[in-house]
Amino acid sequence: MADDPAKRNPSSGCVFGPVPSRRLGRSLGIDMVPLKTCTFNCIYCQLGRTPCQTLDRKEYVPGRQIIGELEEKLSSLSPPPDYVTFSGSGEPTLNSEIGWVIREISRLTKIPIAVLTNGSLLHLETVRNALQEADLVIPTLDAASPQLFKFINRPHHSLRFSQILSGLKDFRREFGGQVWLQVMLCSGINDDPKEISRLREILDSVGPDRIQLNTVIRPPAEEFVSPLSPGQMEKVRDLWGKGAEIIPDFPQLGESPASRVRDAEIIDLLKRRPRTAEEISRALGYKLESVSQCLGELYRRHTIHYRMFQNRCYYEKKPA
Ligand code: SF4
Repeated sequence: MADDPAKRNPSSGCVFGPVPSRRLGRSLGIDMVPLKTCTFNCIYCQLGRTPCQTLDRKEYVPGRQIIGELEEKLSSLSPPPDYVTFSGSGEPTLNSEIGWVIREISRLTKIPIAVLTNGSLLHLETVRNALQEADLVIPTLDAASPQLFKFINRPHHSLRFSQILSGLKDFRREFGGQVWLQVMLCSGINDDPKEISRLREILDSVGPDRIQLNTVIRPPAEEFVSPLSPGQMEKVRDLWGKGAEIIPDFPQLGESPASRVRDAEIIDLLKRRPRTAEEISRALGYKLESVSQCLGELYRRHTIHYRMFQNRCYYEKKPA
């Protein structure tokens, strides 16, 4: 029998980072659900296949625990992060407390709040209302037809493409903050010229503030998934014209002077998603050579393993 995700909930560690984000600068992450609890099972997911696919909204991680961790973290951070971001191990809107947590954060701090969501629950009024006090919401839409949506996102069997689309439109109409719609492009899957032009029509019907093009940069759940080249990405951006942009490369963050790399910090980062040594170095501010040494040690102790993707080496925490 599958275990109950709520019971696997860690007693701590829902707030992580700050980590460098390709679009949000230094982002302090909040993980609202246990690894990987999601309504989708995307072929490109960097967290692997979804073992806990559900539409069940509940308090997977207690809201008060999140706020407690966040208060502690914020008091120790200088300078403050650029964003507090709901992202991490799965779909954050599955946590029924997300609205309360967002409201508490906006009471605590002026740091802007971003929510990364797959948009699958935006057809629910209660979810749309819960996100109203965020500053920025980044939903995903990868397909222009129900068939391709099913193939790429492998949604929970009760979810319909038409629901997702109407949820996005309703949310756009009701939400006062910024909406950046993200499209994940996978080579040979949703980059066909017809699909691209149909997708643009659909994106326009939603009316986001920005359209952000992304491609697969970390090892995907399925081996047949591969990224578009930079040239192909530029072609799509040029075709889509105004309002479309490619998610920029990682910002260069200052490296702190050499200090002792702590295993626990690296493991905490790798618990959430695979990362290269360079990404870890940027995220934690340690020198690359110190990070590489520490990764070697963790690998020898069988705490982590690695996978090659597009000639880059991604480290992951081994399951406990
Ligand atoms: S990519 Fe996001 S939406 Fe898709 S399965 Fe992974 S966590 Fe869920």
